[in-house]
Amino acid sequence: MEASRENVSPCRILVAEDSPTQRRIIMSVLAQEGHEVLLASDGIEAVTQAFQEAPDLVVLDIEMPKMNGYQVCRLLKDDCRTAHIPIIMLTSKAQETDKFWGLKTGADRYVTKSFKLTGLAATVQELLESGPAGGVLTPQGGGFQAGQEPPDDQDIDVLSRVNELLDRKLYEATIINEISKLNTLSEDCGITLSSMLTVVAKVIECHVCSVFLIEEAELFIHVHDQVGRRYFDEARRRMLEVALPLMRPGSSPSQIKVSVDSEPSLVREDSQESGSIKSMLTLELKARGHTIALLALTSKSADAFNHNVRRLLDIIEYPVSLVVDNARLHEGTRKLAITDGLTRLYNHRHFYELLEQEFQRATRYESKLSLIMIDIDSFKLINDTHGHQVGDEIIMALAGVISREVRDVDIAARYGGEEMAVLLPQTGIRQAKAVAERIRAAVENHDFSLPDRGTVSISLGVAGFPECGASNYTMLVQVADAALYEAKKAGKNCVRTGKCHGTAKEI
Ligand code: GH3
Ligand code: MG
Ligand code: MG
Repeated sequence: MEASRENVSPCRILVAEDSPTQRRIIMSVLAQEGHEVLLASDGIEAVTQAFQEAPDLVVLDIEMPKMNGYQVCRLLKDDCRTAHIPIIMLTSKAQETDKFWGLKTGADRYVTKSFKLTGLAATVQELLESGPAGGVLTPQGGGFQAGQEPPDDQDIDVLSRVNELLDRKLYEATIINEISKLNTLSEDCGITLSSMLTVVAKVIECHVCSVFLIEEAELFIHVHDQVGRRYFDEARRRMLEVALPLMRPGSSPSQIKVSVDSEPSLVREDSQESGSIKSMLTLELKARGHTIALLALTSKSADAFNHNVRRLLDIIEYPVSLVVDNARLHEGTRKLAITDGLTRLYNHRHFYELLEQEFQRATRYESKLSLIMIDIDSFKLINDTHGHQVGDEIIMALAGVISREVRDVDIAARYGGEEMAVLLPQTGIRQAKAVAERIRAAVENHDFSLPDRGTVSISLGVAGFPECGASNYTMLVQVADAALYEAKKAGKNCVRTGKCHGTAKEI
């Protein structure tokens, strides 16, 4: 709502200026417009008067004795009783850096002193017409908001207020710094998010907190303070509940990958405690105009997240969003580099990296390691009959079947073209053969929805270390490859195992 000029006159304007000459000029400009002027000749007087007189607007000089205009402005804008009063910074300094600092302290406008102070009257009028800064228009324009008492003298202990404000600003800057440091903490998204939640939980008291990555559908839960199993389960349920509406339509909580970061002693299985969630706070984290994540905090105390906490939340919102966004972008780039675009399985290069690591581990710890090589039977014919697009869909569907048939610790990759590989750590040849047979049967029975209702089959070659005698990881691949060749020779749609320098065996 725009107030008319009549509505905002007459107004009471506090002018804080130490130079008598300047004071006279300002007073004459404002008096000409019919405003009543209150005067302060230093910063402390300005704050005291602003609290006592509740002016409609404040005009502040920057360089003043006792306390400069920046500090006065910060102090007034920081207090809910004076935050709504528009402030014009008036200075002879025209440098951009001063303007920047002036506006950063919360000033509404910045007017450069000139001979006749042209521009001041118009700026005053503009601010008075647009109503109180960041607040609700009161009948008088300025003044104290409904329900607010004018402060008593004790309240206007200006120096204590400055100290308190500086201390809080330093605390806030330290928190921002702590959070910002997490941007370069780790390559691992999980570690970064856990550390971020740890810092958040230290500054905002809570029992369980979490961050939900919308695009990735991943929920990271951090347990900060001791809770019973029932409390934890309830917090987890509530966090999934608030995350769900942010996901794509039709998504379900079962699609969300949940990881929990907690000291074992923090979630007490045997707890008889009946403490329930009395407060919950959520904050949408945004980047590039989109909501990318949701921060959620729960507490056993009622009113745990009061206005002080919300103020702190305003402070950490940006750095936390930045950390979360960086972590997920970093993770996304890393994933892109190691996954195959069509199947989302690991790509050939990363498969070899993992194979090398796993082979070294198996050799060092004398543990077992098996490899299954898989190839679609007569795939060229399928491509020729139904086209490459259908061929691609079969490759994708096959990747899905393989992923479902193996354990989380197994490593499935697209080896190339229509060939896949599965690495099975700590798995002997007998077990690996069984897994291979299970995959073969699952593919045989899978409905690939081919236009002619035809079926798809695969052949599989298995190599088991140490049984096959391979002395390095390339040999392990060669053995599995040779076994796959044998499976093709034997008529396809079957599993064969291999050995070094030996012939493949039928299972
Ligand atoms: P075999 O049973 O002996 O394995 O016969 P095959 O026809 O499957 O074997 P071959 O290696 O002769 O042909 C594999 C075909 O797979 C040839 C190639 O065009 C096709 N192919 C490889 N990668 C892709 C892919 O990403 N998409 C599609 N649609 N086809 C692919
Ligand atoms: Mg093939
Ligand atoms: Mg092939």
